[in-house]
Amino acid sequence: MPLRKYRSKRNLAESHEPAGGIPVSKKNLQFVIQKHAATRLHYDFRLELDGVLKSWAIPKGPSMDPSIKRLAIEVEDHPLEYGSFEGTIPPGNYGAGKVIIWDRGYYAPLNGGKTKKEQEKNLSEMYEKGEIKFLMYGDKLKGEFVLVRISNDESKNQWLLIKKKDDYSNKEEILKSDRSVVTGETIEGKPRNASKVTKPHQTKPKIDDIETNRDKIFWPNEGYTKGDLLDYYEAISPYLLPFLKNRPITLKRYPDGIEGNSFFQKNLIDYVPNWIKTIAIEHSSKIVNYLLIDDLKSLLYAVNLGAIEIHPFLSKYPEIDFPDLLVLDLDPVEISFDAVIEVAKTAHAFFTELKMTHFFKTSGKRGLHIMIPLNTKYDQDQVKNFAELLANLIYERIPLITSLIREPKKRKNRVYIDYLQNGRTKTVVAPYVVRAVEGAPVSTPINASELKKGLDPKSFTIKTMPKRVQQHGDIFDNMFKKKNDISTCLKKIGKAIEK
Ligand code: MN
Repeated sequence: MPLRKYRSKRNLAESHEPAGGIPVSKKNLQFVIQKHAATRLHYDFRLELDGVLKSWAIPKGPSMDPSIKRLAIEVEDHPLEYGSFEGTIPPGNYGAGKVIIWDRGYYAPLNGGKTKKEQEKNLSEMYEKGEIKFLMYGDKLKGEFVLVRISNDESKNQWLLIKKKDDYSNKEEILKSDRSVVTGETIEGKPRNASKVTKPHQTKPKIDDIETNRDKIFWPNEGYTKGDLLDYYEAISPYLLPFLKNRPITLKRYPDGIEGNSFFQKNLIDYVPNWIKTIAIEHSSKIVNYLLIDDLKSLLYAVNLGAIEIHPFLSKYPEIDFPDLLVLDLDPVEISFDAVIEVAKTAHAFFTELKMTHFFKTSGKRGLHIMIPLNTKYDQDQVKNFAELLANLIYERIPLITSLIREPKKRKNRVYIDYLQNGRTKTVVAPYVVRAVEGAPVSTPINASELKKGLDPKSFTIKTMPKRVQQHGDIFDNMFKKKNDISTCLKKIGKAIEK
């Protein structure tokens, strides 16, 4: 339904609702659900599509129970700006009554789409067919949903909203969660706490508020505490954050320090504060809600959970399936770090010959990572195949001390060139991240000129790093200024082999 129809129904002078014009949408497709106390209470379910909000009125509201089908009546398209409206539509106006933003967030078609445009194309096709399958990523609604058109009459405006069975589906009444995700108020105007009125656009929590147990010993031998770890991450954050932003994160948590229990956390199933960003990603048939770390506050939130190690994806949202980084991990098995240096120098000479941009960092443990920035034209499988080729070519140049064999027993006294860290949902420890081993070493960017015998990766720790970055600056600063194109590289490799 055209926007014109919506505008004509409104008296813009009287109502404070947005009139349309200023785009608020950015990289991902937004959705908003407004609880609307009009003549009859209903929920306005709105999905951003092709520059407008496709809109449905759901009298009974959405449900997280897959056995429940909720009638959704399609209404006029609304301007995107309407999605941020919360307040009262004055009497006499169309839709008069109070509106709260009951939920909002991002959504994406179930069949994916590399860019927003592709996602919109997929959604439009499903819309035309009358069956829209999509993933929601909101504060309240999460996971897979489907909207199915049921009316065959002229109006074609009757649909059903159904939750699909997944990690998020449940029998609990989601509508009991009745407050605005923006102000915390109910539609009756009751604030979150009787004593404390929450203002719109809540005040940001201070970092101090999220830090706990600063004195807890995390590295018993050195006596480093959780506070030391938090201070390190805060100091290094200007260098670290650019490598975390928009990348789904796996945390390795050590709530009781390096000698206590530890676990990897991908799915954020615990309660997380509403200012923490997450991203829903499909793993075979499951949806995993990954943490995003875009600012200092979210970084310290994660560290406060005991996350010593932070492992981001090699791709960024929204181009999750198109890596912008390829990593080769040089992993020594019963052989010195000097051998790793030899292999790295060989790789450096080779990549320089090919004019391929490449960077080095210590893994923080025993190995070295070669980081190769990519334009995002190739999917994970293509990147993985290319990584395998590069690993083979390095091996051919220095076969006596390297190995491509996976089983550790069969590659003793060799540097294993591991290309298998490239692939869907694989993660690699980020530069400047601390490792949970003795000495609190850090995965440290190093200059190619530093690839010399005697380089000791253990010398880069949470205590020495702040000084090192002051001296060397950010060695990875130019990482994404010149990205490699795989097919261009392949042509150069072909020529190099012919010679
Ligand atoms: Mn309404």
